[in-house]
Amino acid sequence: MEESTDWYDEVTKELDDLVHKGQVYAQNPVNFIHADCWCGSNKKYKDCHYKQIDMAPMTKEDCRLIFKKYRRKSYSCLFNGCSEKSIKSHSIPSSWLSSIIDSDNFVYNFPLNLFNSSPEEPFEVEKLGVFESSTFKGFCLEHDSKLFEKIEKEGGWELTDENCLLLYYRSVCYELFAKCRAMSILEEVRGDISMGKDPVSQVCIFEVLCGRILGMKKAVEDLSVLKDKIEQYIKEKDFSVVSYTYIPIESPINIMASGIHHPEQTFEGRDLQNLAEDNLMNMSCIVGQNGEEEFVLFISIDENDERAARFHKDLLTCDNLGNRIVIYLLETTENLFWRISDWDHLTNTQKDKVYSILGGSVNSDILEYSKEDFITGIESFATKDSKIQQKIV
Ligand SMILES: [Zn+2]
Ligand SMILES: [Zn+2]
Repeated sequence: MEESTDWYDEVTKELDDLVHKGQVYAQNPVNFIHADCWCGSNKKYKDCHYKQIDMAPMTKEDCRLIFKKYRRKSYSCLFNGCSEKSIKSHSIPSSWLSSIIDSDNFVYNFPLNLFNSSPEEPFEVEKLGVFESSTFKGFCLEHDSKLFEKIEKEGGWELTDENCLLLYYRSVCYELFAKCRAMSILEEVRGDISMGKDPVSQVCIFEVLCGRILGMKKAVEDLSVLKDKIEQYIKEKDFSVVSYTYIPIESPINIMASGIHHPEQTFEGRDLQNLAEDNLMNMSCIVGQNGEEEFVLFISIDENDERAARFHKDLLTCDNLGNRIVIYLLETTENLFWRISDWDHLTNTQKDKVYSILGGSVNSDILEYSKEDFITGIESFATKDSKIQQKIV
């Protein structure tokens, strides 16, 4: 892990230098037209960012086409050693999602708007068909059906260590896939997104995009290590490393989700880790359907990790668990789906509040949010606390 931090720090410093140079250029652009561009492209400023100032900006349609291209791209199976072509797999089974779809089979999702350079509004709501929601080209047909058949059973699945590990594995693979794809898209548009922008904005956009790419690179590296580790457990049929907290909830729920994160606090607000440290503890959170029952499931595989144990334990003692789960999901999970009718009836103030929480895990304080009354009328899970099942290793 030591090595990875070295490259990260080094590249961050290089980026700071480029941005600083860009800011100097932006104050007096004409003075630098014959110099090398500040962005590190090895082109002259006049042939690179300076030239782009008067070009037509990228349109929404341009962005849509780039996304479409990446959606259609083929990928090979993520399972180590397999080189078969991937099929579209679900990170959340469509049979689970079917409990929140509307009559035309649509749900809402809140994808990160990759091209929006303003850090204040990075998310937007998008209507998605159930068969394109949460799918990713992660596994070949054989691995997709062989690995996940036990958790895809129509009548429900059994709460076992093995099934929890598989759910955890799938959330890791989805995250890895989504990050790799987003990184490729950002790298592709990094050059063109400055078109039609003034010199100062060009530097800001460059800084935001490069920062996002760097963060993704780091995450991809960590997730790949984690994926290999889980595959080893799967191959050895060793499922003993799994810790979980299974929380049944009252139907009907309005949200389904699956994601993996590094929680900074427990649900009691106790500090666990800060994102700058190495060797972060990963926690997967899945909201789904098990037969007739809807549930929230927290899974970790960090054996003897005191942080994971603390996280699980605090789930049992915190007040208003259902409310906090919803906040946690909004803060951490992009792979989240919301029933359309339940979103549409929210007031604009409520929607703004949700947007302000989405993806806010870096600076947020779960207790701070929970104190507020905003969530009333938006969404809160009624948890069946007496039926919670927990296993901690
Ligand atoms: Zn340039
Ligand atoms: Zn395969």
